[in-house]
This record gives sequence, structure tokens and C-alpha cells, in this order.
Amino acid sequence: GRPVCECNTCYGGPDCSLFLPSCSANADGGDPLFLEPFWKQHAESSAVVVAGWHRMSYSFSDYTFLSRELESLLRKLHSQVGNAVTDGKHIVFGVGSAQLLNAAVHALSPDNSSHPASVVASIPYYQLYQMQTEFFDSAGCSFQGDAARWKNATNTTGDIIEFVTAPNNPDGLLNEAVLHGPNVKTIYDRAYYWPHFTGIPSPVDEDLSIFTISKLTGHAGSRFGWALIRDEDVYQRMNWYVQVNTMGVSRDTQLRALKLLKVLIEDGGREIFEFGYKMMTKRWDRLRKTMSVTNRFSLQKIPPENCTFFQKVREPTPAYAWVKCEREEDRNCIEILNAAKILGRGGSVFHDDERYVRLSLIRSDDDFDDLISRLERLASGEDGAK
Ligand code: PMP
Repeated sequence: GRPVCECNTCYGGPDCSLFLPSCSANADGGDPLFLEPFWKQHAESSAVVVAGWHRMSYSFSDYTFLSRELESLLRKLHSQVGNAVTDGKHIVFGVGSAQLLNAAVHALSPDNSSHPASVVASIPYYQLYQMQTEFFDSAGCSFQGDAARWKNATNTTGDIIEFVTAPNNPDGLLNEAVLHGPNVKTIYDRAYYWPHFTGIPSPVDEDLSIFTISKLTGHAGSRFGWALIRDEDVYQRMNWYVQVNTMGVSRDTQLRALKLLKVLIEDGGREIFEFGYKMMTKRWDRLRKTMSVTNRFSLQKIPPENCTFFQKVREPTPAYAWVKCEREEDRNCIEILNAAKILGRGGSVFHDDERYVRLSLIRSDDDFDDLISRLERLASGEDGAK
């Protein structure tokens, strides 16, 4: 058997077959370790070795903070995948897409703070939008919650900045902007717009779209994101934000991103997306099967989508399950799951009802196996919580 320290968190004993009653399955957090096995298969071609004297400078050889080679690789990747039009777009790199989300809010906010912009998003929304806008507390904008409340106010008030997350975190829906008009500006968060998670109906051609390698290659720890920006002035303002904030993105990170993307581009992204899609499909099949024995919980329903990358209509395979507790008495769903030793994120974190819980499906195989074991017990009533 495997040594005890190599068993899943929820198993012990000499051959890892002993279920540990005290452990909790971790389905919280969006750490994308589901792609670790892919990179183990490509350990050599994706490795970066940097000598101590190499790349010490603030800038690349053309005196910019951006690797031009990396920029052209990103354009090539988008055209291979068919998920975004990059012609006529400027590119800004960020320390993760997280930095670019706030850079975008800054760039779209007025300089004149007597008319601050209202930042909104559709519930359920990713909490970082609100956290950043409130924490950085700029005079040019303030967070105003649910986009739907502003539908009839788009012509009467100051500027509105709408975050549109597509596919959405937490529920995986391919959201569209709900606000339109001359004073509405839209930031599209495209972190999950890759064939691992969703059909790619068409390449997006938006004024401002934000991407990240975190959910594309799984290298969340490298902190690398990029924005595609149509307007020259918005581009300059975002670029300025990143320069003043961090003087650009770590040159080491850019080098690593370059090496990883080269592996992807070699075969037009075929291998990594087939790997990711297959992995996510398997996980969704297991999850659906596990949940099918009970009516106590339901999963989000998302219609099949055409995928131009795989050239077929396919079921979406989102990064997260958005679980609803259906029983009247289970109105605090995260409590029910925590009692069954499952860690997730409650609906209120996304400004939604507490009947919902987000479970991450993109963590390691071991975390996912633990989650399924715990859910099986809960769904069959074996855990005692009837
Ligand atoms: N946008 C969305 C919708 C996310 O879910 C995340 C990470 N969970 C991010 C942005 C930030 O990702 P990163 O900073 O790692 O690029």
C-alpha cells in the first residue's frame, strides 16, 4: 500500500482504504489543480530554467515592461481557440486578472469625482469586484450592488460600470450585459471562457475583456492575466494603473507564461482542452450520478451550447457546482454541507440566497474523490442528517 501520508485527506490505513470520519472534503476555493496531471505529462517541455544573471532588468530588450513575444503568443492562442478577436485590440498584462479588474474600474471611472461611477454586477457575483471597489475606495466610483436594480436608471444617473462574468462564477451561466446605453461601460470577465468549461459559440469582440492563465493552464500561483482593450484612451489608463501599482508584471512570470503557452500552441490547444474537457465531463457525470439519488439537493441547469472549438453541441462543464438545498428546513445550505463535512462557499458570499452553496470541481483528484465520498453519504442519508 501507499504510505499513510500519500493517502487522500479523507483516507488512512496501510492501503488507504480506511475512511477517516473526522476529515472534511475541501470543495472551497478555486485552486485549479485539476490540470496538474496534464503538466506532469509535459514536465520537460514546460520547464523553465533561469540562470542567476538572466533577465535582471526592469525592462525587456525593447525598453518595455511587456514581452512582445508573449503578446503575440496570446493573440495566436485566441485565434486558435476562436474565443476572442484580438485584431484592433491593445493588450495589457496584469498580476493575475485580479489586478486588471481594478485597473479596468479605474480606467472607466471619471476623473471628475463630483459624478462618481456606479459599479454593478448581476447576482450571484464574484465577490472580488465589490471587495476591490470598496477597499481601494476611489473617489471616482462606488460599488452599487445588483445590476438589475439599475435597468431603468441608465439614462438618468452618472456613468455605470457593469461587470459581466461569462461563464459566471459561481453558477457557470454565459451571462450577458443587462445594462445598455451611452453612459454604461462593460467589463467582461472571461476567466472561464475556455473549452474546459463551456462551449465557445463565437469569438468575443468586446471593448474590454479580461483573461487569465489561472483557469486556462491552472497556474494560478504565477499571477498572470491580460486584458484586450479596444479604446486607446482606456488602454493608456489601464497601462498607467499597472505601471504605478506594480511597475508591470514580474518578468519571471512572463517568462513562465511564455513557456506554458508555447506547449499549448504547439498543437493548437488540442491536447490541453481535450484533457480539461474530458476531466470536467467525468467529474460532472460522477457528481450528477451522486446527486441523482435524492431530491434534497439540485444542481444548476445550463443549456447545451455550440462549441466551435470541438465542432459540436456540448453540455457545459462549469468549474463550480451551484448546489441548492431544496428542503424548507435546509435554508442555510452551507451549514447542512459543513455538518456533513463538506467545505464550500455559501450563497451569501455571492450576494445570493443562503439556499445555495458553491462547490469547486477544479481542485485535485484527491479533493474531488473526497467530495464525492462525502456527498454520497449525505445524499443517501448515511451521515445521519436525514
Ligand atoms: N475572475 C473570476 C470570475 C474568478 O473566478 C477569478 C479567480 N477565482 C478571478 C477573476 C481572478 O483570477 P486571477 O487573479 O488568478 O487571474
